Amino acid sequence: MKPTNPVFTGIDTTVFETMSRLAKAHYAVNLGQGFPDVDGPEDIRKVAAEALIDGPNQYPPMLGLPELREAVAEANLRFYGLDVDPQTEVLVTSGATEALADCILSLISPGDEVVLIEPLYDCYLPLVRRAGGIPVRVRVTPPEWALDRDALADAFSDKTKAILLNNPMNPTAKVFSEDELQFIADLCVRHDAYAICDEVYEHLVFDGKVHRPLMTFEGMRERSVRIGSAGKTFSLTGWKVGYVTGPAHLMDPIAKAHQWVTFTTPPNLQKAVAYGLKKGNDYYDGLVQDLTAKRDRMARGLEGLGFSVLPCAATYFLTCGIDGLGLGETDVEACETLVKEAGVAAVPVSAFYGADAPTGYIRFCFCKQDAVIDEARARLSAFLTAERAESA
Ligand code: PMP
Ligand code: GLN
Repeated sequence: MKPTNPVFTGIDTTVFETMSRLAKAHYAVNLGQGFPDVDGPEDIRKVAAEALIDGPNQYPPMLGLPELREAVAEANLRFYGLDVDPQTEVLVTSGATEALADCILSLISPGDEVVLIEPLYDCYLPLVRRAGGIPVRVRVTPPEWALDRDALADAFSDKTKAILLNNPMNPTAKVFSEDELQFIADLCVRHDAYAICDEVYEHLVFDGKVHRPLMTFEGMRERSVRIGSAGKTFSLTGWKVGYVTGPAHLMDPIAKAHQWVTFTTPPNLQKAVAYGLKKGNDYYDGLVQDLTAKRDRMARGLEGLGFSVLPCAATYFLTCGIDGLGLGETDVEACETLVKEAGVAAVPVSAFYGADAPTGYIRFCFCKQDAVIDEARARLSAFLTAERAESA
């Protein structure tokens, strides 16, 4: 038989799904895949439930319900001072993943170079490759995750069509500094490149830091698209409602990609997300406070067990060095040992890199109930204590 497309043929299932399956099989506490273990606000879910019963449950407008597009535009103004036209500059998608696919399919042509900063969220490379783009990778590495500006500047050329930037960044929990963003913006302007900005963690930023979209830098408004996810902002990851904001000349082709990928997104969920985006600052502040407490609880627990926990400025994730813990040669081995023998699932950070990945770090997801965080800590402690006793 003729071969299927090589981009998708024979590649591994994503590490998140793999770890979740392993967690289930081994009755492990799942701190691998990033999702909260308590659903987001009940009032938002009620709006969705009522809209499902009351209807209409037919195709909504292709660009998204007007009330959600307006809410996205309002949120851009409220949080970032961005003046956005809801008619021409907002698109609703089935999750940020679909938004990424739409942006990449419509902005990238075969042979275009796309600058990517490793570690990479799982769908970036396959989507760029499937669009015929040529990935040009630079990397940040633990424990500092510092951006090598010379390497980034070298990655840009006249062939660069776009940079795909994840800020705040999964799995590093890094928030790019103003200086770094300015540097990236300057490169985009100098090389006439687009910026596809994956900002799904925009509202999960801690310690008084505030997210600043690359789009707000000079010269970037007309060349950036920014992607948000209701899954992250409202702790409803299964809903898969995303939104793209960008200038009309880019949103037009992006919407054309969307019309042949999913066309629309469930209308009841859109209604509920529109309601959610209008929530007061107390909701957004409460989310940050809640996650900060969880981050700190998990970090304390892991540090007490000998993991070297890296700073975490944002997201759902803590990255930890595993040197000296005797968990195996690599992060992949460590995660296998932990899920099978300790009953705790994590994710190897090397999964986010291509060749020559750092192999001494694993990622734990901390958006879990306190009792779950404590149970994971107790399991890890029991396992490490038994290991030490055995090797003594
Ligand atoms: N980008 C990043 C960096 C993510 O971590 C995620 C994950 N959840 C997504 C995109 C996908 O978001 P969604 O679930 O809305 O498709
Ligand atoms: N973004 C989530 C993570 O990093 C996973 C989402 C998914 O499994 N597609 O764990």
